[in-house]
This record gives sequence, structure tokens and C-alpha cells, in this order.
Amino acid sequence: MGEGKIHIRRGPEVEMAREAGHLAAEILRLTSESVRPGITTLEVEEVAVGLMRERNCRSAFYQYRKFPGHICISINEEVVHGIASASRVIQEGDIVKIDIGIVRNGWVGDNAVTVPVGQVDPETLQLLWATEESLHVGIAYAREGRRLGDLCSAIERTVKGFRYSVVEEFVGHGVGRKLHEPPQIPNHGTPGEGPKLRAGMILAIEPMVNLGTKRVEILSDNWTVKTLDRKPSAHFEHMILVTKGDPEILTPRARLFPSKPVKEGEGAAGEP
Ligand code: MG
Repeated sequence: MGEGKIHIRRGPEVEMAREAGHLAAEILRLTSESVRPGITTLEVEEVAVGLMRERNCRSAFYQYRKFPGHICISINEEVVHGIASASRVIQEGDIVKIDIGIVRNGWVGDNAVTVPVGQVDPETLQLLWATEESLHVGIAYAREGRRLGDLCSAIERTVKGFRYSVVEEFVGHGVGRKLHEPPQIPNHGTPGEGPKLRAGMILAIEPMVNLGTKRVEILSDNWTVKTLDRKPSAHFEHMILVTKGDPEILTPRARLFPSKPVKEGEGAAGEP
């Protein structure tokens, strides 16, 4: 993990990244609010595109490695990288993963959330809760002096505490002037391994968690990732700034499932 130099951002660079992050968070929140039974995934994407236009930013995903969409929108057993479609109608009981990345003044903001639509079965809701919790446990480890493996393993430990599985093929990443910068941030790892975290690093942390098997496949559209057993998957992402103190969430939003604040070393599944 973590091949390549990790950028340390300072002063005005941090301010630009923060602006991009806050904007990505606002667009994600407003787009999420449009999700309801009967709306198509293309209509949801159009909400996001309209907001990007109004706020003078553009999609970081559109045409990234030829990705055809402006956001990623993935339902139920789709893990990530779903493409919006006029023929895909959101139903009561679905869980909808929305991932929004924007570029503003040359800086990228990236974040994702899983939205439950109406009445969702309790087992699936628990998956969402656990995934969001694992994100916040991971964030609590994003501190100067910690190793990247401490953060990655904290996410894994939390997920496994719920007996869910972590998707290994897709990972979080450094973010800044580019959507994907070093380091890669897997949602599993070994404490004490990997690069040391330092103030000024900007990380996109994004656990992808499956109710059943960790195994996934890519569909014939070359993008959409699905669980092999077709059981649901959840995804939450924040972009954070490592500081000398508490990590700063650059994509602030209310938690879907508020819980007590996670302190370093007290994840849901405890210390190793
Ligand atoms: Mg990301």
C-alpha cells in the first residue's frame, strides 16, 4: 500500500481543498434528498449536474478513464461505480449509493453516502449503520504519527466485528489536485504497517462493506461492480485532512446514524 509520494498540503492549498470538499458535501446532501421511490437514477444524476453547474464546478468522474456518468449511483447489490440510467427506477426498500466527486479551481472534492429509500429491511439498515461506523472509526485513526495500516485495520476490525465483509478490490485514496493520488487506502490492513501519517495529508476514506461474501464482479458495462452473491453492499466516504490534532472532515455532513463520537483506539470492535 501507499506506493508513491504522499503530498503534504499547506496554507492556501488546504483552503482550496477544503472549499472543494465542502462543495462536494453540499452537492451530495442536496442530491441525496432527491432520492425517492419512482425517480430514475438518471433524474438523480441530473439533480447533481444542475447543482454542479449552478456552483461553478464540474464532475471529477465524467470521462475519468472514460467513465460515462457524472456521478456514481449504485443500488442494493451494486457495490460502486454504477452508471445512471433513464430505465433504472428506484424502489421503496432500496439502498442507493451516491458517490460525488467535483473539481473546483483545480481541486477535487470526493464523498459518498448510502441512502435508504423508505422502509428498508432491518438487516440491511444494520449494514449501513456498521459501514458508516467503520468509516468514522477509520477517520479517528487519521492522526499524525499513526501508520496507514492502523487506519485500514481499524476499519476492517470494525466491519468484522459485525460479521460483514470488506471489499478488497476497490480502495480509498489520497486526493487533492487529482482524484486519485497516493496512497491507496484499503479497508483492511495490518497495524504498524504502511507510511506514517503526517499533518497536511488529504485522504479519501471509503469503506465498501458487503452483507455476504466479499467477492465482487464487474458487469459487462465495464464499470458497475456487484456482489457475487447479490446480497446488499454499503459505501460511505469522507475526505479528511490529517492535522497535528483531531482529523478534519473536509466533506462535512450529518451522520445518517448518529452515534457517540469515536475516539482513537475505541472502535466498535475495540483495540487489537
Ligand atoms: Mg473516492
